Amino acid sequence: MRTAPFEYHRAHDIDDALEWLTRDGDREVKILAGGHSLLPLMKLKLATPTVLLDVQGVSELKGVTMEPGWIRIGALSRYVDLTRDPTVAEALPLLSQVAATVADMQVRNRGTIGGSLCHADPQADIPAAVLALDGRLIVVGPRGERRMTLDEFIVAPFLTVLEPTEILSAVEFPIPSGPQQSVYLKRPHPASGYPIVGVAITANVPTPGHLSNVRVVVGGMGSKAYRAYATESTLNEKELSPETLRQAAEVAITEAQLSDDADVPYHSQLIRTYVERALHRLYGGVA
Ligand SMILES: Cc1cc2nc3c(=O)[nH]c(=O)nc-3n(C[C@H](O)[C@H](O)[C@H](O)COP(=O)(O)OP(=O)(O)OC[C@H]3O[C@@H](n4cnc5c(N)ncnc54)[C@H](O)[C@@H]3O)c2cc1C
Repeated sequence: MRTAPFEYHRAHDIDDALEWLTRDGDREVKILAGGHSLLPLMKLKLATPTVLLDVQGVSELKGVTMEPGWIRIGALSRYVDLTRDPTVAEALPLLSQVAATVADMQVRNRGTIGGSLCHADPQADIPAAVLALDGRLIVVGPRGERRMTLDEFIVAPFLTVLEPTEILSAVEFPIPSGPQQSVYLKRPHPASGYPIVGVAITANVPTPGHLSNVRVVVGGMGSKAYRAYATESTLNEKELSPETLRQAAEVAITEAQLSDDADVPYHSQLIRTYVERALHRLYGGVA
């Protein structure tokens, strides 16, 4: 399969990239990061950009930096970077753990956190982690910089609020204050590795056996990763026991956001089972 013809430009910095995105003319410019989603779409002619803007040489989109209270991860950080970076592993172990579950080594060596978020595949792993860790997406464009949550950024499957003239530059995460536990559990599709369901949970542990600020996120199902607010309420500030965890998993079914073509009994059971298993993993660390 061949792509339609296109012009290729390798941007040398972010201003150069923005300049190419905002140039006049009847052209469709597409940003190329890892290329693992974009290039297959181009080969299928589902994407036919006239200009491919390669941003892999743009240093402003790379790296992990610590700021007071925040950790900033460049949009071009690859999954493999997230699994190996000691700062990420220390401050945001959930993100390292999620990145390690993506597909195989070839995909983890090329795919980027920014590419995953901009592609907005409802089955991707990374959005669940970004939502559970309360990440803020930083978008730059001709009118400057704007920040938004994942819910604000992803509108629908494969659709974000990103304008054609904008670039996702980084994702910022608050550094948890006090002891935090987190877990990610996914049922991978046997062929692709994409999650059929992926459950990400973060929680503070004020005292052993109790949780606060619980965030339960379900990904891989429905139109995008979502927070299970009622499930969180059954866990927040409660004394944990196997019975509490079972009840929380039952509540997760009642607020399941499934896609229109879902097999409702099967996918509901998957959610219940994976929420309960994930909570048991977490419970092992806090009981
Ligand atoms: C065999 C295979 C298995 C996979 N399995 C999984 C899996 O198990 N879990 C999972 O989550 N994913 C999986 N993926 C998807 C993979 O994670 C992709 O790499 C990812 O979705 C896109 O990242 P990328 O860096 O390759 O982006 P690209 O393909 O380069 O870009 C994707 C889209 O985002 C845009 N874009 C990229 N970066 C930016 C930016 N900084 N600013 C603005 N727009 C941008 C591009 O223009 C394009 O529209 C798999 C892919 C393959 C090929």
